[in-house]
Amino acid sequence: MKIPFVDLHAQYLTIKQEIDRAIAEVIAQSAYIRGPHVDAFEEAWARTLGVKRCVSCANGTDAIYIALRGLGLKRGDEVITSAHSWISTSETITQAGGRVVFCDTDEETFTIDPVDIEAKITPATVGIISVHLYGQPADMGAIMAIARKHNLWVIEDCAQAHLARYNGQLVGTFGHVATFSFYPGKNLGAYGDAGCLVTNDDQLADWMATFARHGGKGDHVMEGINSRMDGLQAAILNAKLPHLPAWTKARRHVAARYDELLEDVGHVATPKVGAGRDHVYHLYVIRTENRDDLRKHLTDAGIATVLNYPKALPFYPAYAHLDHGSADFPAAYANQTRILSLPIYPELPNEAIEEVAFEIKNAFKPTRGQSRNRGVAEPVLMSDMTR
Ligand SMILES: *Cc1c(COP(=O)(O)O)cnc(C)c1O
Repeated sequence: MKIPFVDLHAQYLTIKQEIDRAIAEVIAQSAYIRGPHVDAFEEAWARTLGVKRCVSCANGTDAIYIALRGLGLKRGDEVITSAHSWISTSETITQAGGRVVFCDTDEETFTIDPVDIEAKITPATVGIISVHLYGQPADMGAIMAIARKHNLWVIEDCAQAHLARYNGQLVGTFGHVATFSFYPGKNLGAYGDAGCLVTNDDQLADWMATFARHGGKGDHVMEGINSRMDGLQAAILNAKLPHLPAWTKARRHVAARYDELLEDVGHVATPKVGAGRDHVYHLYVIRTENRDDLRKHLTDAGIATVLNYPKALPFYPAYAHLDHGSADFPAAYANQTRILSLPIYPELPNEAIEEVAFEIKNAFKPTRGQSRNRGVAEPVLMSDMTR
């Protein structure tokens, strides 16, 4: 591919010395599992978010599972979560013994629809997992109000939203507990798997830390799991953390440039950002009725794109037993065939952004029988797509 979807090596080259030094230090100290680098990262991430506690763990999926167990989920408890997310958000509910209750998303922001949350609450509902999908905060004001009214807890899945803000407040600081992933491709990424939980609740943090380390080292006060961040990942995250604000700014620059260049392409809806929300653009996801044709055109032009995700969660075989139909989640269902993620990463050169936009415009140009690009069939206008 001429223009890759992400280029992790490009970022490594910009901080090679810092990373190489960090890795060498961990090896020199044999500080492989937990240890000083992990402690330092937990402290630094808690400080960055302004929360009391950060509990590191092996990955962002474990983080959600640990949070659910920490909040005391019992067999049969219902947890409401987004129909449009990565499967970690829902599979962990089942793993922890709960029942997944999917909720539709807002058609334009892709985040969980608070009106549908309220409609899905039953006497068995105990909590909500909100996802800041693609880097855009969910409507936390409305979600926390619903949670207070119905006495529910809230877990924020912040795997895609490091440093995103809602009404000026950092995501991860609204819910009772929040989870982060540091998977390599995330906005703050390790060089392997890593994750963490954050909370202002000391008792909950202590329980989760104990549970994640076999129920206590030296004194097993309960059975737990083995979910640890390793020293190499922590040292890499410590080296990368100071750069995160600049990388976030660079992602916003890429998004703003795409917005500008694609503004007058009538067949493409650029990402809509909800009021008061500071998007950190883990992904830049457009919507178009001619998604598959456009995707093919871009692939042929050497531009990598991704579908995040090919289906809404309720429509995967894993959830066939819930027996959902398209009418249960009209927005998430409709977006399945429209969404397309364009290349985005902090180091993406301006010329590449321009080329992607140029090829998108080309794809919609009726150039029958001439020049280098075939136009894709006339699509339905985006104005017909909104409810
Ligand atoms: C990446 C991701 C996760 C899981 O993180 P891992 O570290 O890969 O386990 C959870 N939720 C969402 C929304 C994600 O994008």
